[in-house]
Amino acid sequence: MKVVDILNQSESTQFSIEVIPPLKGESIESIYSAIDPLMEFNPISINVTYHREEYEYKKMPDGLLKRYSVRKRPGTVGIAAALKYRYKVEPVPHLICGGFSREETENALIDLNYLDIKNVLALRGDSVKNEKYFVPEPEGNSYALELIRQIVQLNNGQYLNEDQKNASPSDFCIGVAGYPEKHFESPNLEYDMDILKQKVDAGADYIVTQLFFDNAKFFEFEQRCRDYGITVPIIPGIKLVATKKHLKLLPSMFHATLPEDLTREVLKCKDNAAVRELGIEWAVAQCRELKERGVPCLHFYTMGRSYGTRRVAEAIF
Ligand code: FAD
Repeated sequence: MKVVDILNQSESTQFSIEVIPPLKGESIESIYSAIDPLMEFNPISINVTYHREEYEYKKMPDGLLKRYSVRKRPGTVGIAAALKYRYKVEPVPHLICGGFSREETENALIDLNYLDIKNVLALRGDSVKNEKYFVPEPEGNSYALELIRQIVQLNNGQYLNEDQKNASPSDFCIGVAGYPEKHFESPNLEYDMDILKQKVDAGADYIVTQLFFDNAKFFEFEQRCRDYGITVPIIPGIKLVATKKHLKLLPSMFHATLPEDLTREVLKCKDNAAVRELGIEWAVAQCRELKERGVPCLHFYTMGRSYGTRRVAEAIF
C-alpha cells in the first residue's frame, strides 16, 4: 500500500522507522535485531537509506596511488525486499541522484516495481566524502526534482527510450525531504521553500523532515509550507541524542541546531548512559507535543539501534 494512502486513511499519529544497510560483509541479522523490538508498535513503513560510493586509495607496487571506488553499505533494494517479505510491512527504499545515471535509476525502479515495492523516498543525496560539492553523474539527475520527474514519467508509462513498446506504467508513491532549518546549501528559507513547492508540484506525495530538536522549528516550517500552498502530509523526523559527541556531530552532519537548554543538560551528564536517558526524555516530550498537534506520523532515525526508539514508542503509542 502507498504510504500516502495509509497516512490519509489514519485518524491518529502513526509510527515509522528508518534503518541503514549494514556495512558490506556484515549480516542482515543486524538490521533484523534493530527492527524486531520495534515491530509491536506497528510501523506503517520502514525506510532504508542509500549510501554513495566512497573513494579509497591503494599503494601500487610502482609506488603510485590507485583510486578505488567502494560502496560500503550496499544492498538498499535487496534489504527493502527482505523487509517486505519478513515483516509484511511497506519498505521505503531511498533513491539518490548521486552516482546514478538516469538509465541506472530506471533499472532500479524497474527492479522495485517487479518486487511490488510501491514507495520510494526521492533524494539528491550527499556529496561523496571529501568532495566539497555534490557532483551529478554525466548522464544522471542533478537534483531531487529531476529524480521525481523521472519517477513520475515512469508512473505514466514513459521510459527513457521513447520508442519503448508495450511500456507498462509503474505506480510509485514518492516521498521527499524537507528541512525545518533550511537545507544547508540554500541561500535562504524562501529559496528552500520554493524548491520544496516545486518538488511537490512535480509529484511528491509527502514530505519527511530532516531531524530537529526544537518543535517550534517544525511548526514554523509546517506553517510556511501551508502558506506556500503545500498541502501534502508532512512527517517530522526524530533522532535521539545519545552521546556527548552528538553535540558536535549532529550540527555538522545534519545541520540541525541543538537548543541551548538541551545542550546545557547534555554537558551536565556524568556519562553517555545519562545522556541517553536525557535524549529519551527529550524525544518523549517532543513526540508528545507533535502528537497532540496531530502530525500524521512520527518517523524515527534509528541508525540501527532500537533501545531509545523503543522507550519513546512505549511512552507515545
Ligand atoms: P534537493 O531537494 O535536490 O536540494 C538540494 C539543494 O539544491 C538544496 O539546497 C536546494 O535548495 C537546491 N536545489 C534543488 N533543486 C534545485 C534546482 N532545480 N535548481 C537550483 N537549486 C536547486 N542522503 C543520502 O545520501 N542517502 C539517504 O538515504 C538519505 N536519506 C535522507 C532522508 C531524509 C528524510 C532526509 C531529510 C535527508 C536524507 N539524506 C540522505 C540527505 C540528503 O540527501 C541531503 O540532505 C542532500 O544534501 C539534499 O537532498 P535533497 O533530496 O533534499 O536535495
